[in-house]
Amino acid sequence: MGKPTGFKEFTRQTVPYRNAMERLIDYKEIYTAPEDDALRTQGARCMDCGVPFCQSENGCPVYNLIPEWNDLVYNGRWEEALERLHKTNNFPEFTGRVCPAPCEGSCVLGSTEPPVTIKNIENAIIDKGFENGWVVPKPPVSRSGKTVAVVGSGPAGLAAAAQLNQAGHSVTVYERDDRIGGLLMYGIPNMKLEKDIVDRRVNILREEGIEFVTGADIGGKGENGIGIDKLVADNDAVLLATGATTPRDLPIPNREGTGIHFAMEFLKKNTASLLDSQLENGNYISAKGKKVIVIGGGDTGTDCIGTSLRHGCESLVNFEIMPKPPIERADDNPWPLWPKIYRVDYGHEEAAKKFGEDPRVYSVSGKEFVRDEDGTLLGINTVNVDSNFKEIPGSVRFWEADLILLSMGFLGPEHYVSEALGLELDGRSNYKAEYEEFETSSPKVFAAGDCRRGQSLVVRAIDEGRKVAAKIDEYLSV
Ligand SMILES: Cc1cc2nc3c(=O)[nH]c(=O)nc-3n(C[C@H](O)[C@H](O)[C@H](O)COP(=O)(O)OP(=O)(O)OC[C@H]3O[C@@H](n4cnc5c(N)ncnc54)[C@H](O)[C@@H]3O)c2cc1C
Ligand code: SF4
Repeated sequence: MGKPTGFKEFTRQTVPYRNAMERLIDYKEIYTAPEDDALRTQGARCMDCGVPFCQSENGCPVYNLIPEWNDLVYNGRWEEALERLHKTNNFPEFTGRVCPAPCEGSCVLGSTEPPVTIKNIENAIIDKGFENGWVVPKPPVSRSGKTVAVVGSGPAGLAAAAQLNQAGHSVTVYERDDRIGGLLMYGIPNMKLEKDIVDRRVNILREEGIEFVTGADIGGKGENGIGIDKLVADNDAVLLATGATTPRDLPIPNREGTGIHFAMEFLKKNTASLLDSQLENGNYISAKGKKVIVIGGGDTGTDCIGTSLRHGCESLVNFEIMPKPPIERADDNPWPLWPKIYRVDYGHEEAAKKFGEDPRVYSVSGKEFVRDEDGTLLGINTVNVDSNFKEIPGSVRFWEADLILLSMGFLGPEHYVSEALGLELDGRSNYKAEYEEFETSSPKVFAAGDCRRGQSLVVRAIDEGRKVAAKIDEYLSV
């Protein structure tokens, strides 16, 4: 329980980010190294509340045993804390860096005081585990003789593969990209998650016996295409973990033409070029010297802001269709629900430091892109909208831009795999498979992660990966 009086004695102190102006000149992670004593003090704030909402339905989606490892960290028992952490989370080095930490939103101390710094503590436990050589490959002792094909190597596919492999099944992960990791590799940028952290875990999984095949486009018709029918025929079970990769477009006048890109095209090319050549090969969309507008918020919008700033954009504006959130929880958003409040993420802080103000403009919607007679992008006309997204008459404004990035969410998975299998879809065009059952309408075929639930979070993908693995194991054991 940490220290009985810790929550009264100590205030919340998060591990600081690197100085915003300094981190803007590189693509290294934004975090500073935490100090053990500071983390132990934060662990001491965990207060033996009795009903730890942080590890309930409203809190951590993988039900991390948070109070237990807070206590172990407070007492300096880091290796035991790591063992507890790995019981529920295959990849704490990912969540410890990128999770928005719903656990902290439902921390009982957080109902009256700032919550325990759970995410920082999680990250420190796993980083210490790697530093001290406590995280080592643990191949299963025996094999079941059953084979499972996992399509997609994001956190859902990787978590499922890890669990199924531990259960003794022989797992092959197929990924159409050239690197393993899904959005951990080619969505979330280096500033939040350096890619050697992803590779380090993939190498452990490989040493534990999982096979990885990159450049394997399951159901695709191109030269890398592999028939899904063959995969189903050759394996005892198939898991689809293909993510929600269809971006939402903004079909307003003058959409066609240069200068407008989906966020993921921008982010993926940047990471690929960075990893391949430190951006020397020029195979990316440069924001250097450009007036950039990012349409849409969330993690993706923030990552577009952070990347544009690192390229050296001339100006930066970020449109949000929603109104500005309140500073404190609204009455209809009580603890222990996720607090829908105003937050300053890393990209917003960096933009404010560089240009003197937060880049976000709220309650605004794109009306038409503006181009000259040669088709060159000049900017966008917007209107202001009320809280029901109704246009406010007379509010048209022109915003100059020569690069516009669309970050308005995702519309579910692409459908060439589901069409080839004749899969049923749900009302939001995701693969239809009930949560906790995960069976699709096709025999032997399961689905988990964003392709099943729609674009979500890394920790939810890990949760689904773990749970679908248990279901597949059950199916294979009958
Ligand atoms: C830019 C961005 C930033 C984000 N930031 C955060 C964050 O900070 N914190 C957070 O918690 N969440 C974040 N998210 C959300 C999070 O990354 C996703 O919810 C999570 O990665 C989903 O995991 P997944 O395994 O279901 O799918 P994905 O990670 O999308 O992986 C799916 C994989 O399947 C592969 N694939 C698809 N079809 C095929 C096929 N036919 N054959 C072979 N392979 C195929 C894809 O190439 C991809 O690699 C972010 C998302 C984006 C887009
Ligand atoms: S995975 Fe996310 S929700 Fe769970 S303990 Fe870690 S930071 Fe909190």
